[in-house]
Amino acid sequence: MIDYIVPLFKDANIFFIQGQRKGRVPYSNSMVLGDYLIDTGVSATRLKKVKKTFEIKKLLFSHWHDDHIRECNIFSDIPFYCHPESKPIIEDIDKLLDLYEIRNTPAEPQFKLYLSDIIDAYGIKIEGTFEHNDMITIGNDIQVKIIYAPGHSIGHCIFHIPELKFAFLGDIDLSTFGPWYGGTDSDVIEFIESIDKVLNLDLETVVTGHSGLYKGKKLIRHELEKYKSIFIRREEMIKALLSETKPRTPEDLLEKNIIYKRYDFLKPFLLAIEKTMIQKHFDKLLVEKKIEKKNDGYMLK
Ligand SMILES: [Zn+2]
Repeated sequence: MIDYIVPLFKDANIFFIQGQRKGRVPYSNSMVLGDYLIDTGVSATRLKKVKKTFEIKKLLFSHWHDDHIRECNIFSDIPFYCHPESKPIIEDIDKLLDLYEIRNTPAEPQFKLYLSDIIDAYGIKIEGTFEHNDMITIGNDIQVKIIYAPGHSIGHCIFHIPELKFAFLGDIDLSTFGPWYGGTDSDVIEFIESIDKVLNLDLETVVTGHSGLYKGKKLIRHELEKYKSIFIRREEMIKALLSETKPRTPEDLLEKNIIYKRYDFLKPFLLAIEKTMIQKHFDKLLVEKKIEKKNDGYMLK
């Protein structure tokens, strides 16, 4: 079999489909679970190969992000499903410009061209939706449980197979970059709660949206804890740049490597995302009463 199609369990029709560039953004990894395909970000060539190799009958999206729905029209002959919160965004992908806060910025025309000409993300129709705790049955009566796990985005779901101690974690991606919460719909507190939900599952094998396959209970736990600690590291950097006297805005904290290490690629887009992610930390610190808002800025309490 081709190297990017990896069977995961003996006698079960479950395959990890690794995306191009090892599933790094702007691609992502997919899963074949029986006759279901989860996400389509692997690349057009790889998707066509999946279509030829497997008898896929239904397509499920873990969430609405462009790198997980790209080129899904290759499967336009089968029905698509997602969480109800993802549906209106996937069906009107221009909403992404507001969620990424890039409308009327230099990044807008570039991104629209990307959505239309590169990843063909306009005109997608969602047939139905799935909810937290819904079960789907694959193959020889293997049960897949859908778990709502927001924070990274609204509508983000993970897919758990208790009897195989397996989960597809979507964009709880365990990447070295760390958690991403750069959409206006993202939420740091919810993201941490979602990671805690995963920590409470009994898992021996996981696949993530961008960093692939992990095996072993201990390793998975270690990676989840390490990933979660990145929130703390970023928060400490932000707190160190705040004072008790002078209010600071998210803009004041840009280009200080709190989120991104480099800014040379698609800079306007990265700065928009970095600003949102810093704001998301401010939102969390406000809830926890560790900072206060003054004028347009934030100060330590
Ligand atoms: Zn995502």
